[in-house]
Amino acid sequence: MSRTICEHCGTQADTKAGKCPGCGNPLRSSMSGTAKAVIAIVAVLLIAGGAIMVVMEDDPETPSNGTTVVEPVPTLPEKEGD
Ligand SMILES: [Zn+2]
Repeated sequence: MSRTICEHCGTQADTKAGKCPGCGNPLRSSMSGTAKAVIAIVAVLLIAGGAIMVVMEDDPETPSNGTTVVEPVPTLPEKEGD
């Protein structure tokens, strides 16, 4: 059973009812919520896929000579006295 909230009066109503039991406002199909979720998932997948594509495309550009660049660790200045 899927429930929705009437946008008119805020009453929880069963989507199967078709209309709000409180005010009789016709309820929207639950498709709108599902569509939003699908769009959100697709958007996330596109963003994640795009990021992966960028990484994969960027990979051959970086020379893989086995050279590991070690970043110098910044030495903290010694504190003198507290
Ligand atoms: Zn209502």
